[in-house]
Amino acid sequence: MPNKNLGFGITCIDTEHIRKDMVAAYLIEDSGEVAFVDTGSHLSVPNLLDTLDQKNIAYSDVKYIILTHIHLDHAGGAGQLLKSLPNATVYVHERGARHLVNPKKLREGVIGVYGELFFKQFLGDLIPIPEDRITIASDGDEIKLGTRSLKIIDTPGHARHHVCIWDEKSKGIFSGDTLGVSYREFDSINGEFIFPPTTPVQFEPVVWNETIDNLLILNPDRAYLTHYCMIPFNGHIANKLKDEINNFASIAIKLADSKNRHKDITLALLDHLLDAANKHKVTLDKGAQSKLFKGDLGVCARGLGVWLDQQESLTNK
Ligand SMILES: [Zn+2]
Repeated sequence: MPNKNLGFGITCIDTEHIRKDMVAAYLIEDSGEVAFVDTGSHLSVPNLLDTLDQKNIAYSDVKYIILTHIHLDHAGGAGQLLKSLPNATVYVHERGARHLVNPKKLREGVIGVYGELFFKQFLGDLIPIPEDRITIASDGDEIKLGTRSLKIIDTPGHARHHVCIWDEKSKGIFSGDTLGVSYREFDSINGEFIFPPTTPVQFEPVVWNETIDNLLILNPDRAYLTHYCMIPFNGHIANKLKDEINNFASIAIKLADSKNRHKDITLALLDHLLDAANKHKVTLDKGAQSKLFKGDLGVCARGLGVWLDQQESLTNK
């Protein structure tokens, strides 16, 4: 299992959710204290525990599991992982906490979007977390880990239950889905290629733009993306991401009245990203690009569809 040491006591763990190099979890070590940021799915937990074993870290040294948000490729493993970590506390946004204590609604919502088969095959299960092991992660909270302080920042836009974690030591942001998706297969002479995961059901493009601007005030050097791994982060790539959030929303609006709305938005997003990748001088062949994009774009289109319906019901009120 190829973990990646990123310096500053930070390790990128490949959770191998769905495929390799798609969903990361992070381990932060500082002066004998350890935290996970995100967990992958229920099925990713063996990879997380193997990482502790390989590093000779006692399970009792893990103090925190900090969840960026409760989408299951980020938080689905937390309940199962916690069973092995006697001293760990789970940090999660207050809008997410109750769904981890009683995951019935979360499970139903996920099965509604992805289907029962996907849930069983790729997410496995969803273990409830005892309420007394959860601490609400609120904007401005500072979590002490060894000699460092990890600061919680409320970051709506991708989801209202989303927080990012600012690590002053590495000048890095653990960004979950807020700072986009950037797969290493698309790196080119122009740097990283980035796009927004507009997952159901809380895509808010205007708010998301504001959130990115807020994070830039920190003057970060890097972002630790869940999808996938660390990238340099600055105003330039932030602008590219903001442009793509607006492009995705425009594509959805253009196709709002189309008969096969979901299918048409999915195809239009694919065309748009293939064209953008071409301009970015991505060298990966088109077939392989399409395959990687398609893994995300069905879900992105579904999120945009939900957003269009929300706009419509707002204007009809
Ligand atoms: Zn998400």
